Amino acid sequence: MPKNYRSRKRVLVTGGAGFLGSHLCDRLLERGDEVLCADNLFTGTKRNIDHLHNHPRFEFLRHDVTFPLYVEVDEIYNLACPASPIHYQYDPVQTTKTSVHGAINMLGLAKRLKCKILQASTSEVYGNPRISPQPEEYWGNVNPIGLRACYDEGKRCAETLFFDYHRQHGVPIKVARIFNTYGPRMHPRDGRVVSNFIGQALADEEITIYGDGSQTRSFCYVDELVDGLIRLMDTDDDVTGPVNLGNPAEFSIRELAELIIHQTGSKSVLSFHDLPSDDPTQRRPDNTLAKELLGWEPKIPLEEGLGYTIRYFKDLFQIWDK
Ligand code: NAD
Ligand code: UDP
Ligand code: UDP
Repeated sequence: MPKNYRSRKRVLVTGGAGFLGSHLCDRLLERGDEVLCADNLFTGTKRNIDHLHNHPRFEFLRHDVTFPLYVEVDEIYNLACPASPIHYQYDPVQTTKTSVHGAINMLGLAKRLKCKILQASTSEVYGNPRISPQPEEYWGNVNPIGLRACYDEGKRCAETLFFDYHRQHGVPIKVARIFNTYGPRMHPRDGRVVSNFIGQALADEEITIYGDGSQTRSFCYVDELVDGLIRLMDTDDDVTGPVNLGNPAEFSIRELAELIIHQTGSKSVLSFHDLPSDDPTQRRPDNTLAKELLGWEPKIPLEEGLGYTIRYFKDLFQIWDK
């Protein structure tokens, strides 16, 4: 029997074939955990976890979290949910079901196993925020019947379920409010701003700015975000969150476009289009709590992270062209 066999953790990652989930699987395997990745491959892809195919401590399970799941694990990271507006608005009812029924099933599993469970929540719970930066105490400004509501309200309801399972059933919960994250393995066609702009810049196509580009976002590099998730999971049971995880450096969408044109050496020009409804005008995390509780603070500047991401997309498009 290998050394440390009994102390090895079995970790369930739902949404593990997605962008963030696949990086999380990598990191957990690197530190010696066993990983069960459950994903229905709606927006995730086997390509993201191809390199883990023969890994002795990795297992993939094609599973939709809106259905019950009976497995034996020590920790659960619940990431399953489409995350980009194009994908979560494709079948909005399924999006809400994924957040709400998915949370109920995974919390039911955690309750039976008496194990820790972490929810990948989102800065979208703040909606179109009236204050900036957003601290965890802010209750948000969300349109409950708009096009983004299936995602925003689904995630808000999931947070409610997490806290009620905690209070009512004593489930040890961790809620991370993740702000815009970017990096290798982002879905190249999911319409998110970083992947759209890099794809357009590399093809010398027009860069599609929605609105006048003055709306802001704060972008965190994926490796640092995943580190934050693991640090939060590893806290004692009295730490529940919610905790903001994001890079506080704030950029307008126009600034982002100009940076990407510059870094790719592209001939692209900017083109301006209608702003989607309920598109938040500003977003920036207050990171005080993450610093205090987790000693976590992102350090990778946007220019550096974009460099890694541009290289990934260049390689990906070369493979596609073959
Ligand atoms: P992603 O779309 O790449 O990953 C989501 C994964 O969940 C995919 O692999 C998808 O196939 C899977 N999935 C979707 N519905 C499912 C279902 N019903 N059952 C099982 N699997 C299902 O997105 P991501 O960026 O990796 O996001 C991961 C999580 O982090 C999501 O919960 C998202 O809401 C949250 N989040 C991400 C960001 C970000 O900027 N990337 C920001 C805030 C929150
Ligand atoms: N559940 C699951 N795996 C388990 C235990 C529960 O998927 O190991 C699901 C099951 O579908 C259940 C849900 O989690 O309906 C909520 O469980 P809970 O124990 O809170 O409620 P109940 O079983 O009473 O509906
Ligand atoms: N956006 C844009 N052009 C695009 C894609 C997105 O101007 O091709 C804008 C979008 O309207 C939003 C911001 O970029 O204001 C971030 O969009 P994304 O979908 O990446 O994330 P979210 O809106 O969920 O923060």
